[in-house]
Amino acid sequence: MFSKFKRWREQRILAKSQITLQQWQRAQSELPVLDQLDEDDQSKLFKLATLFLNYKTISGAHGFEITDAVRQSIALQACLPILNLNLDWYSGWSSIIVYPAGFTSTTSEVDAFGVTHTKNNHRSGEAWLRGPVILSWKDTEHAGIRDGHNVVIHEFVHKLDMLNGRANGFPPMQKGMEQSTWTKQMGNAFEDFQLNPKPGIDRYGATNPAEFFAVLSEVFFETPDLLIEAYPDLYKLMTQFFLQSPLAPRR
Ligand SMILES: [Zn+2]
Repeated sequence: MFSKFKRWREQRILAKSQITLQQWQRAQSELPVLDQLDEDDQSKLFKLATLFLNYKTISGAHGFEITDAVRQSIALQACLPILNLNLDWYSGWSSIIVYPAGFTSTTSEVDAFGVTHTKNNHRSGEAWLRGPVILSWKDTEHAGIRDGHNVVIHEFVHKLDMLNGRANGFPPMQKGMEQSTWTKQMGNAFEDFQLNPKPGIDRYGATNPAEFFAVLSEVFFETPDLLIEAYPDLYKLMTQFFLQSPLAPRR
């Protein structure tokens, strides 16, 4: 009954959407990372992005103006990782905040002696547990060009990771996947990556397992051949998690 109501509600949202197919196609043409999608997947992505924009609010900070093009670009890239999952993977939070450029975020940590250390970190994006996703437009604008970096995919993959608590590189598994296989393969690769950086994979991934998963996801969608070259077993594992294979010829 509930899923019937949900479907009906989604149909209504899609029917009432002001965004035309041409607008979605224009936004998509700016994002080479979506080039490999066939027509069915494109239309699925446009629908998902329409629902995404209905459920999430996108607001500008520091005077940044949110245009339709900004909204559509963020929605398309955010929905790529969940193309074959669903919007429930982004549940429990609703807001996306966009800064004009990189921003500084302050973190404080208490050390073993009880002393609090405050650090200012320069960021291009952030994802808060049960809170907003924050993006720098300067970095988002240059995402999606198949260079292996994608701040939108990165931050939204943290959100998938946070579905079962703090981001730690271990998101909820898909049906049929073994948590132990994920832990073992990701753990081994993370240890290896800390000692042996790989071409095309951002060193930032060596920070911790959560960043490793987010950085690998950027490469998985943007430059999958480099991930296959570096960690073929992880590429396969990630196809099982995302239920898609960005390298598969679709056109
Ligand atoms: Zn991160």
